[in-house]
Amino acid sequence: MNVPLDPPSLAADAGDPAALWAALGWRPDAEQLGALEALQQELRQWNARLNLTRLVEGDDYWIAQVFDSLWPWRSLLHSPAAPLKLVDVGTGGGFPGLVLAIALPQARLTLVDSVGRKAAAVQAMAASLGLGERVVVRCERAELSGRSRDCRGRFDWALARAVAAAPVVAEYLVPLLRPGGQALLYRGQWSAADQQAMERAVLPLRAELRRVERQELPSGRGVRHAVVVAAAGLCPQLYPRPVGVPAKLPLG
Ligand code: SAM
Repeated sequence: MNVPLDPPSLAADAGDPAALWAALGWRPDAEQLGALEALQQELRQWNARLNLTRLVEGDDYWIAQVFDSLWPWRSLLHSPAAPLKLVDVGTGGGFPGLVLAIALPQARLTLVDSVGRKAAAVQAMAASLGLGERVVVRCERAELSGRSRDCRGRFDWALARAVAAAPVVAEYLVPLLRPGGQALLYRGQWSAADQQAMERAVLPLRAELRRVERQELPSGRGVRHAVVVAAAGLCPQLYPRPVGVPAKLPLG
């Protein structure tokens, strides 16, 4: 079901919601829009106790959080029937993972963060939004998720936004992929040097850089890139290396 144009609460919050969804090429139904608004309210409440994110009000929320979480998934948003398994590494206050759980009603999400208070808040928000059956929160380092029986080699998609340098994130994500799975790294700027470093970094993981997509956020909020890496074979058991090593000695 499509929502009416300019629902009052969203219209009051984000300058022009119709333009926002038009730029995305997808719009939430009434239930999804209600869940996105409920998530915003949850964030306000949790932020009073815990510094989860500063992007909570107006365009900060609807563009820099919601739109930015969703834009790389346009094609999936239009075929949400696929029961995909996704893992969001370094989810922080639940982005992009909770937004994807709302927008992809068939998907199962695992959200990983090593900070206990953030993981507990995200777990409580997922439960409050009625997502508890499809969302699992793990409080642990990504290097340990990549070695856990529940996570290693299990996911169709592994994703991360604003967690570490791209080669470091690749080492966190690729071991989590099932054969044929793909990793999606949300990046801001992306240069030719970044591209070369990434191509070198994914080689030992038996993965390949598949594509890089570019998006300008609405209202001049900046440029974003989605870097997609595909598992080309089984990731060697050596990876991920022990906690802290990927960041200290990045691949490539
Ligand atoms: N992804 C969220 C977003 O875009 O709003 C949060 C970004 S925040 C800057 C980075 C998060 O990654 C933090 O919550 C931090 O605890 C988590 N993190 C960093 N390294 C990690 C690791 N090795 N394992 C698990 N979580 C990690």
